[in-house]
Parts: sequence; C-alpha cells; structure tokens
Amino acid sequence: MAVGSRSANTVRLLVYTKAIKHTIIFMITVQKRPKIKRWRLRIDSSAAVTLTVPLRTSQSTIESILRKHGSWIAQHIARRQADEEKAAEIYADHAPLIPLLGDWIEPPKELHSFYRREARSYFLAECAAIAAKIGVSFAKVRIGDPRSRYGSCSSKGTLSFSFRVIKAPRFVAHYIAAHECSHLKFMHHRAEFWECVRLIAPEYKAAEAWLKQNGNFLRFDQCTRSI
Ligand SMILES: [Zn+2]
Repeated sequence: MAVGSRSANTVRLLVYTKAIKHTIIFMITVQKRPKIKRWRLRIDSSAAVTLTVPLRTSQSTIESILRKHGSWIAQHIARRQADEEKAAEIYADHAPLIPLLGDWIEPPKELHSFYRREARSYFLAECAAIAAKIGVSFAKVRIGDPRSRYGSCSSKGTLSFSFRVIKAPRFVAHYIAAHECSHLKFMHHRAEFWECVRLIAPEYKAAEAWLKQNGNFLRFDQCTRSI
C-alpha cells in the first residue's frame, strides 16, 4: 500500500489486499475538525470514503490510520462493486426494461418520479386495505429514499416507505406494507407482532429472505456500465 498526500485535505490511498486479490485505488477525503476527540472513518452509499480527525492530528497519524484500515475500506468497496455488477447483470438480462412489482416494463422518461408515484399509489391502497383488515388507522403515507430502511412507522401513525421497494416483487412489497401496518398495532417485534404480520402476509419469511439476498439490487437504477 502507498499513501501520498496531494492537497491540504485530500489523501490518495493505494491499497492492495490479498483478501480480494486485486488492487483498488480510491480517494479518501480527510477532514480536520476542531470539536471532535476521536477519528471517524465513514463510507457512504456512493462509496465515498471520508476520514474525520481532530484538528491537530499529524500527517503521519493520518497515514497510519489509513494504512491500518486500508484493507477494510477496500473490502467494503469491493463488495459494493460486486453488488453493482450483479445488479448490472440483472438489468442487462432484461434491457431496456425496468422492474416494477415483479414485472419488467418499458422505462418512463423520469425514472425516480415514476417510481415515487407508483410507490405512493401502491402503498396508499395497500395500507388502507391492511389497516381496515386489522382494525387500525394511519395518519399518512410518506414516500422517501432512506439509506438503510425499507419502511418505518411513527408513533403518530405516519407510515414511511422507500420508493425503491416498488422495484421488488409484489409479495415483498406486500410484506413491507404488512410489517409497517402491524406496527400501528404493536410497536415492537415480539411474537404477537409477527403473528399479525403472518396473518396479513403469510409469505413474510420468503419476503425477508428475498430482501436479504436481493435487497442491494434495489439501490441500483438502470445500469449503464458494460459488464
Ligand atoms: Zn419493524
């Protein structure tokens, strides 16, 4: 591994790890902050790496942190690249179509606003039906793009969903709606909560398994890279 400083707060780090058997070159942004006591290393969803350190941290300390954690960063990025390649393969198999509730359809002009509209009308109808079935009511349905969750339920009765769920098969989207609606009744994950989920979505275990195996796919849109 080589570490070289190129500008005031950006370090270029070249990493070779045996674990992944190839060399990855990536940029790390190093931020010096006066108010923090300990360094923090963060990789965001677009694989940008940021190291935040206390203001007076020396260059040699920064380099030693990066040297020590270089292979962890490389593995994380390699995993993301593998996810991206897997998604690209799935898209390539269906090109130029896009996924919607288990079907592959002609892509609209505005992909994200299309998915958001579809997600809104799907979850509104789905949650209304489920809420009526289990005898609860909700305040509103919100559609967003949270980084690490598919849905949530607030104590005020707002059901929030990632628009990306609409790209999954119908039984998976149904399970996400069932899960959040069940929280209107049970604000925990104990047995009675899961019993409620099971009554609404008997395939909930298969849906969880699908998400575990394919959830990363939902993060990627039509892949343009060649594979
Ligand atoms: Zn939950």
